[in-house]
Amino acid sequence: MWKKLKKRRKITMADRACTNCKRIVESGSECPICKNDELTRNWRGLVAIYDPEDSEIAEEMGVTTTGKYAVQVNV
Ligand SMILES: [Zn+2]
Repeated sequence: MWKKLKKRRKITMADRACTNCKRIVESGSECPICKNDELTRNWRGLVAIYDPEDSEIAEEMGVTTTGKYAVQVNV
């Protein structure tokens, strides 16, 4: 039997990024990580961190939590 593939929700520019830690906030009005409520749609690039403890990108970005982050956030 074929199962219908669940459509994954795409991250779009309509999603907002935390101006503090660059976390992509898909729902809600504040960042789930740092509770910052200053979110912006003015961001570029997307990076998904799956293993923050073993990721150079995560280290470079100061990310310690798994998730999706903007590469650049313009405040
Ligand atoms: Zn944040």
